[in-house]
Amino acid sequence: MRAVYLTNRGLEIREVEEPKPGYGELVIRVKVALTDGTDLKALLRGHPILREGPFGHEYSGIVYSLGEGVEGFGVGDEVFGVNTAPCFKCENCMRGKFNLCENLKKNMVIGSYAEYLLIPQQVVKINLFKKPPELPFHIAPIIEPLSCVFHALEKLPIDDVDSVLILGSGSISAMFSIILSKLGKDVLVSGRNEEKMKTISENAGVKWVKFENLGKGFDLVIDTTANSDVVKTGLNLVNKGGYLFLFAGFKEGERIFLDQPFIHYNEIQILTSFHHTPISVRKAYNFLLQNFRKLEFLISGFYRLEDINLAFENMAKGKGFKYAITLD
Ligand SMILES: [Zn+2]
Repeated sequence: MRAVYLTNRGLEIREVEEPKPGYGELVIRVKVALTDGTDLKALLRGHPILREGPFGHEYSGIVYSLGEGVEGFGVGDEVFGVNTAPCFKCENCMRGKFNLCENLKKNMVIGSYAEYLLIPQQVVKINLFKKPPELPFHIAPIIEPLSCVFHALEKLPIDDVDSVLILGSGSISAMFSIILSKLGKDVLVSGRNEEKMKTISENAGVKWVKFENLGKGFDLVIDTTANSDVVKTGLNLVNKGGYLFLFAGFKEGERIFLDQPFIHYNEIQILTSFHHTPISVRKAYNFLLQNFRKLEFLISGFYRLEDINLAFENMAKGKGFKYAITLD
């Protein structure tokens, strides 16, 4: 089968053996794999978890083969899901910190930019879903980033904030915008990509402003850019008693200097979230089924597997949100 590999020379399409499902596992024929900002980061600057090898982690497809012991799925089922599932056995899982499971990498779906994709046992059991017929294959994979956004929302003191600034103009900003404006928050999006901010504004019903023109303070500032300079500016825009939320991870080794007196005397809370939990995945599942048409604008185009570099070139240039890599 054809599969995209991340290498230190960029992306390579290789001819490799089809995966075979072991006990409790299944293999899907991929219909759509979506590009995302995490993959772009891994490609451009490296990523602490996504190393060289099979690439892509957002997927939808059709069950192609089953290992022994799989329950609830059959060959031909249309499915979608997220990229990991917790083990429920490690120390962090025992404390309910399922997003920090010590065995996430063992239970990870990786390599969705390929004709066939192995789904590990724990993901089959917990975080793989039958796709309702009305949910299109190209929108279904959004469940993964959306699960991360819902996990972030669990960490956010939503009731304590009215005004929200979202830094960044990508698909994560768009998802926060849609959900927070539905919750009645006064949301402003700010970034450097005017075209994408306008698109978010039109589709999510929020306001936008150029990053250079940011002025007044906000109860909550959410960073989705992973850019330390942007975060520094964002911190200075937090109202007294407000919150700075670090959604995106900096590249390894990147540091930020904290103005401790500013943070302390203004009682600013710095919060963060990582990844998702089975609970946030279910919240995302429910939201997606009810709102997928509102999220469709995030799919900026379609490319075949052999043209995957064109999708990432667009993303690197700031053109579009997510691209659907199709495997029909
Ligand atoms: Zn665990």
